[in-house]
Amino acid sequence: MNQCPVADPKLCHRRNVVYQIRCTKCNRIYIGSTIRQLHTRVKEHLQSDQSSVKRHLAECHSTSIAVEVLAHDSDEKNLRLREAILIMDGKPEMNAKEEEKVLLSLVRPVK
Ligand SMILES: [Zn+2]
Ligand SMILES: [Zn+2]
Repeated sequence: MNQCPVADPKLCHRRNVVYQIRCTKCNRIYIGSTIRQLHTRVKEHLQSDQSSVKRHLAECHSTSIAVEVLAHDSDEKNLRLREAILIMDGKPEMNAKEEEKVLLSLVRPVK
């Protein structure tokens, strides 16, 4: 029940981070950001039916993820910008396309 999906206690308690979740079976990735504790956010990804991470793991028949912190920023606006840039560069396969469009509009205004 209390099992930690992040696996690294040093990362667990970090806030204001851009993180990457990788499916260790197929190596597809998801990139997101949170101002809350990483532990809490990753758990949500695994529990919520709305989460593209949970859906992917079900489709992929995978149960294992690897979590990494890609960036840190104490300012929330900067954090979202960093996330958008990392998504633009990394093109994470697991991210929902709609969600991606909203983020990219932060960096590249939609006409
Ligand atoms: Zn944890
Ligand atoms: Zn997978």
